[in-house]
Amino acid sequence: MKNSFYTNTKLIGLIGHPIKQSYSPFIHNIAAQFKNVDYIYLPFDVVADNLENALKGVVALGISGLNVTIPHKEKIIKYLDDLSEEAAMIGAVNTIVNEHGKLKGYNTDINGILESLMEFKDLITGSKVSVIGAGGGARAVIYTLIRHFKPEQITIINRTIQRADTLHNYFSEKMRFDNLKTADLFPPELVETFHSSKLIVNSTSVGMFPDVDDCPTNLKESFHKDQLVFDMIYNPTETKLLRLAKQQGAVTLGGLKMLVHQAAKSFELWTGEEPPVEKLSRSLELMITS
Ligand code: NAP
Repeated sequence: MKNSFYTNTKLIGLIGHPIKQSYSPFIHNIAAQFKNVDYIYLPFDVVADNLENALKGVVALGISGLNVTIPHKEKIIKYLDDLSEEAAMIGAVNTIVNEHGKLKGYNTDINGILESLMEFKDLITGSKVSVIGAGGGARAVIYTLIRHFKPEQITIINRTIQRADTLHNYFSEKMRFDNLKTADLFPPELVETFHSSKLIVNSTSVGMFPDVDDCPTNLKESFHKDQLVFDMIYNPTETKLLRLAKQQGAVTLGGLKMLVHQAAKSFELWTGEEPPVEKLSRSLELMITS
């Protein structure tokens, strides 16, 4: 890792709370090395009350851009000057670019979700799917599923049912998709919903480091071999949910591929350079296993 920074070095940051679990600083700093561009990426633990001031700081200090993570992806929108068409449609932002003092929000999670799910397109199209969670990650996955995979039905399952209902109404109106349902995250009623889903996505933070023994559902009867279970969590690489689903024969997918692909798109938005995705993935895997 380079240890000299000069007056031309540009700064990119990550804001969220908590952010200790994040691999984004590793990915972006190594991407800058691979592409030989003079950028440094730093994490900033910012609580909701400080969001507005943090963004004023971005403009005042000339910071080139930010990633936005839990729990700010939706709330941050009201402090931005502009949104990409997709971010406006999704209602969540994970990347901000400082364009000459104006902050524009983008959503590159959709790039990561597309890259992760594309090889399973035939399984998903025309099938029932379940999305656990109703935050920023859920918005990106619901948008991507409706736009690119055309499932028969999407059930949004969340601890706080009002947030699931909000997403139901939002996407029914914005994307004119009528086949949305909502459900509480309460067993055992969920077994049938999960069991009939060809794809189950966890877009909650349940099971994320350090609470790795938590799981959004312990209903093992929910899973079977003709199913894909996708956990957006990338730390740990295999969550308890994925282990449970795998034991029942389901195909499982963790969040690392999504992480690298969303990062690659964000890096391109900030620097204009396309980072080498395969090299980034290998470096990240090496870092995690070492
Ligand atoms: P968020 O907007 O803060 O939403 C969090 C969601 O988790 C909400 O639906 C919340 O339910 C639910 N939740 C939190 N604690 C819970 C608990 N104890 N029991 C039940 N539900 C709980 O977060 P986000 O930005 O969508 O991110 C969610 C997860 O996706 C995080 O783990 C994040 O790291 C991951 N993610 C990964 C990638 C990737 O590249 N792999 C990209 C984006 C996100 P309530 O509405 O009831 O509070």
